Amino acid sequence: MASDYPEGRGRVQIEAAGLEIDGVSIAGHESFYKVPAFKCLLEFGRAPDDVVGYSTVCLTHGHLDHAAGLAHHASRRRLTGLPAARVFAPEEAVPDLEAWLAISQRLEDVDYGAHVTPAVPGERIMLRNDLELKFLPGRHRVPTVGYLFSEIRHKLEQEFQGLEGAEIAELRRSGREVTRREEIPLLGYPGDCGPEVFDAAPELFRARVLLIECSFLAPEDRDRAREYAHIHLDDIAERASFFENEAIVLTHFSLRYRPEEIFEALESLPKNLSGRVVPFLPARNSLP
Ligand SMILES: [Zn+2]
Ligand SMILES: [Zn+2]
Repeated sequence: MASDYPEGRGRVQIEAAGLEIDGVSIAGHESFYKVPAFKCLLEFGRAPDDVVGYSTVCLTHGHLDHAAGLAHHASRRRLTGLPAARVFAPEEAVPDLEAWLAISQRLEDVDYGAHVTPAVPGERIMLRNDLELKFLPGRHRVPTVGYLFSEIRHKLEQEFQGLEGAEIAELRRSGREVTRREEIPLLGYPGDCGPEVFDAAPELFRARVLLIECSFLAPEDRDRAREYAHIHLDDIAERASFFENEAIVLTHFSLRYRPEEIFEALESLPKNLSGRVVPFLPARNSLP
């Protein structure tokens, strides 16, 4: 499969602040990320074999480097007897994505049973008892939505600590609220975006892991980044003091740069960032 990708780019498997992220991200070519801990797929990319088993998919926008695999994923799941996946996407894109699925089903004369669920910024759903998915506003050239995964804990209120289980159960029965809900933001991912996303979704700064695009790096590409609503490395450096994240995974690098140039550019980041930044690229020592 490696030959399917440009030289020095392709499949990546990293662990960032304890979170495994496995996938591909090359601007304009293909982006998808498997997050096994959440049993979630971010973007479809071209839906290679090993993403077909993912039954929850968070699509950020309709650009084909992210969305190309939509119908293929649905078709492959149908073919292998898996139930339809739950697919989230920006509300404005849902009619077109549904139409695409409908046409694919007609072409194949197969009913995938698949539908797309609108992801409305500000709304949230529980993926598990202890895992919440919140939809964030996006900022890109086409309708885009971001995603924030948070661990949910219910901690016993201070005043009840030290009580026996039976006493707590009794309080519960009497209708007392004995626990407090805590949200621990684990992963923020805004999809393709311009730097305006930091004002629209400041939650991104506080996620344990921030997975964020950085399509452009070179000084001469600043205007290009603006024009196509992408992040430039300068946008990250300028906000260095805002990032509270344990790990910042930079991704979606343009094919204009060789991997070695990307690694070198990241070395110029301010010291308080450079130790936490992880490029979503094949390992440097594996470069040709
Ligand atoms: Zn893209
Ligand atoms: Zn895009």
